[in-house]
Amino acid sequence: MKEINEEVTPKKSLNFIEQIIEKDLEEGKNGRRVQTRFPPEPNGYLHIGHAKAICLDFGIAEKYGGVCNLRFDDTNPTKENMEYVDAIMEDIKWLGFQWKNVYYASDYFQQLWDFAVELIKEGKAYIDEQTPEEIAAQKGTPTIPGTNSPYRDRPIEENLALFDKMNSGELEEGSMVLRAKIDMANPNMHFRDPLIYRIVKTPHHRTGDKWKAYPLYDFAHGQSDFFEGVTHSLCTLEFVSHRPLYDLFIDWLKKGEDLDDNRSRQYEFNKLNLNYTLLSKRNLLALVNEGLVSGWDDPRMPTICGYRRRGYTPESIRMFVDRIGYTLYDALNDMALMESSVREDLNKRATRVSAVVNPVKLIITNYPEGQTEELDAINNPEDLEAGSHKIVFSRELWIEREDFMEDAPKKYFRLTPGNEVRLKNAYIVKCTGCKKDAAGNVQEVYAEYIPLTKTGEPESNRKVKGTIHWVSVSHAIKAEVRMYDRLWKIENPRDELARLQKEEGMTPVEAMKQMINENSLEIRPNCYVEAFLADTKPLDHFQFQRIGYFCTDKDSTPDHLVFNRTVSLKDTWAKLQK
Ligand code: ATP
Ligand code: MG
Repeated sequence: MKEINEEVTPKKSLNFIEQIIEKDLEEGKNGRRVQTRFPPEPNGYLHIGHAKAICLDFGIAEKYGGVCNLRFDDTNPTKENMEYVDAIMEDIKWLGFQWKNVYYASDYFQQLWDFAVELIKEGKAYIDEQTPEEIAAQKGTPTIPGTNSPYRDRPIEENLALFDKMNSGELEEGSMVLRAKIDMANPNMHFRDPLIYRIVKTPHHRTGDKWKAYPLYDFAHGQSDFFEGVTHSLCTLEFVSHRPLYDLFIDWLKKGEDLDDNRSRQYEFNKLNLNYTLLSKRNLLALVNEGLVSGWDDPRMPTICGYRRRGYTPESIRMFVDRIGYTLYDALNDMALMESSVREDLNKRATRVSAVVNPVKLIITNYPEGQTEELDAINNPEDLEAGSHKIVFSRELWIEREDFMEDAPKKYFRLTPGNEVRLKNAYIVKCTGCKKDAAGNVQEVYAEYIPLTKTGEPESNRKVKGTIHWVSVSHAIKAEVRMYDRLWKIENPRDELARLQKEEGMTPVEAMKQMINENSLEIRPNCYVEAFLADTKPLDHFQFQRIGYFCTDKDSTPDHLVFNRTVSLKDTWAKLQK
């Protein structure tokens, strides 16, 4: 019987990258080595899209006993800095991954320079002095061949001298570029004499002002992979058309040596695109700079540090990435899937506590003034080893305003005059009425408790249809609770951003301002939480019973507790849309 079961249990199938790798290993490619890299540009904080790449790059190396290095693709000094380098490392570690080595593309500036000089000498590269507009105009289209630059056949000596000048500081940015001489009629546009070096005068965060000429992406990435011995260079689909150039530069680098069994190969997978979410560091930087969010780690941001502050766990992010998988097609993933991953994970680990986020006072009129009782509250019914903690019951309690209704419909099982309700972990109470102000707002709710109805007591089995949570007025702590909603009103903000720019001529910031959800943050300054939370530290996870999962914010202090709602208990949003 057992054997049959084992046979029937489906084995998790390999994704297409794993299939490629297993085939390469079988064929003995690269000496049966697997080496990957995660290559962020340090021009911003990592976002959830990067988490997808990280899980693949590091996950593949782990699975096949290989190596994954972290390589900063730092070839653009105007946008990069050490703050981003440090933050990227912190986020990768937090996700639960460890690189073998840290490399920087800037470590290879000399090697790349030497290679470029080599190409000039071989007649495979030339200095072009045209303006970017002129160069663009000669590019042609995929069906119309481009036109050769008038500088294409410049003598080698002249090219060498000008290339030196590009790096000397005496030339203006944009005044000339180095181009590879390939084929201006090639159907692959990336082969039409691609730009490989340009002048940038901003000092570099690692190499200072040593260089003024910087390699462009296509001239740096593949070679860096090759220098390091990367076997599988995994990137997103927009690089498919760059792959032939990736291969060509490596071929040129090795001067035709047979690399068949020992070279870096690029493979592409689909980008993560989440609904109601805008990725891309460029956009996220604009949000920060415009003050539309409080910073890179604003809990509404799709950055790793934003999700962390919001209360997402590394496990929940990895579970989500695992669920969406890797394919060859662009998709728009549902944020609800991410939310269900974090719910599933926090359900296992979050301590259950009581917090009242919209308080009204409930007075138990037959409970003696000044009397208190210590009761047990189970920390997590999903994990009985998590134990329990003490809560205090007394005559005056805070309850949620929505848990009382004076004239309630039939199916309202919470407090309404005449109705009996269980107070979580405590007594059953019968509602007797309320007090209202002149405007009709409920100021206090009244009830009587029914003795012997606590857990384990003779009357505890008395049938009631509703259970509500509460905290004791004189024991609870005031807290600020921050409720978050989606940052964008639009389901696919990436495409809408592009459309507004193209069709309505908006700037990216104008478009963002139009798409942003002004109600994505609701601050509730007057909530009450049970005393157990007095010593909470940032990033502690809790389930506020009946409300959602919350975590302690970094702004929280013992004198002013602040909590972030990570996610509600159920996906109420999806229902509201119907
Ligand atoms: P951004 O536009 O956000 O800056 P990028 O692709 O320029 O993204 P890099 O830092 O250059 O960011 O990328 C590091 C790695 O992360 C690359 O391999 C890239 O393909 C991958 N990556 C970036 N965005 C996503 C995404 N949305 N989904 C999956 N992988 C991504
Ligand atoms: Mg980038």
